Amino acid sequence: MTTAAFATAPAEPRLGVYNFSAGPSHMPIEVVDRVRDELMDLSESGIGLLEHSHRGRQYLDANAEAEAVIRRLTGVGDDFAVIFMPGGATVNFGFLALNFLQDGGTGVYLDTSIWARKAIDEAAPIGTVHIGFEGRGGDIFTCPDPAKGGADIDAPADARYLFYCANNTGEGTWYDAPPTTDLPMIGDLTSDIFSRPWPFERHAMTIAAGQKNLGAAGCSVVVAKRDFIESASTRLGPILRFADHEKADSVLNTPPTFAVRVIGLMAEWTEAQGGPAAIAARNAEKAGMVWRTVDQSGGFYRSRADVRCRSNLNVTFHTGDAAIDARFLAEARTHGLENLGGLAGIGGMRASMYNAFPVRGAEILVEFMRDFATRNG
Ligand code: PMP
Repeated sequence: MTTAAFATAPAEPRLGVYNFSAGPSHMPIEVVDRVRDELMDLSESGIGLLEHSHRGRQYLDANAEAEAVIRRLTGVGDDFAVIFMPGGATVNFGFLALNFLQDGGTGVYLDTSIWARKAIDEAAPIGTVHIGFEGRGGDIFTCPDPAKGGADIDAPADARYLFYCANNTGEGTWYDAPPTTDLPMIGDLTSDIFSRPWPFERHAMTIAAGQKNLGAAGCSVVVAKRDFIESASTRLGPILRFADHEKADSVLNTPPTFAVRVIGLMAEWTEAQGGPAAIAARNAEKAGMVWRTVDQSGGFYRSRADVRCRSNLNVTFHTGDAAIDARFLAEARTHGLENLGGLAGIGGMRASMYNAFPVRGAEILVEFMRDFATRNG
């Protein structure tokens, strides 16, 4: 397999559009170019990526390469499995509950986001769900406070696991560190994987769907302790068990081959950027610019995201007037600033700027925000 030689900074966008979409989202042009080439010919096999057998050598090499780079980026040891699971994050929230709750036991869920809520919805029909923290109830969206050392989390000591969503894509908050708990910890890292260093080895499992920092949607990277996934219910067919996918090296059935390859290339690109630590600094710069513009707007822009746990990936804000928000979004589009609308049910604006999003896009947004505030304030 040829290894990608990716540049170390995100390129400017194609066609002059800055895509602030929360996911699927902006991808590095070099990765898109590479995928385009491989659609014609995967690793000089004369067969395109979409047409290649999942049992063929070139695909199996791509699969192994993707696993290897994710192992390097997560830093997990041999006691962990790295699996490409079919389906996005929500599908895997369902698998999680089937594997660990259907024989009894309780799953503790920290309800800090709409995506944590989706995980709860998948688990509730299967087992007992215990809400260990409520972060969406009031006017401000928040997460547990690390300074409290777990005292603000309510969790039965005999629960099967504790689930949290590390970055709350819709709300614009994130955890600065994983929650404090003695339970096996399950993290949804769909919107922040590899955006910053994260202690994967402290988790029983992390789930991260593609579509943001990992490119293509419809496939999830699951990094899990082998003994944890082996302890799952046996009252499930193989296709529903993480451990069976692991034993089959993520080719238990026909996997989403395209998505796995794109995930592998995105992970290689991440390494070429200097990895999560280097990327974290860039993400802080981009998000910091936009959060500061909100703070310095004299109250014209405001946010429901708790200042203590603001996300460096999704900056959420609004003006307090839905008609002005709508005007903001319409005008932004005329400047090539696309997909700035907030999540349905939350509204306002949301600037999603993942690893591949260029700094220049954040600068242009900030210029526009200031100008709009002057004209409408
Ligand atoms: N978790 C988080 C944090 C997300 O941002 C999303 C998608 N926006 C999901 C889960 C759901 O992923 P999927 O649509 O792949 O099920």
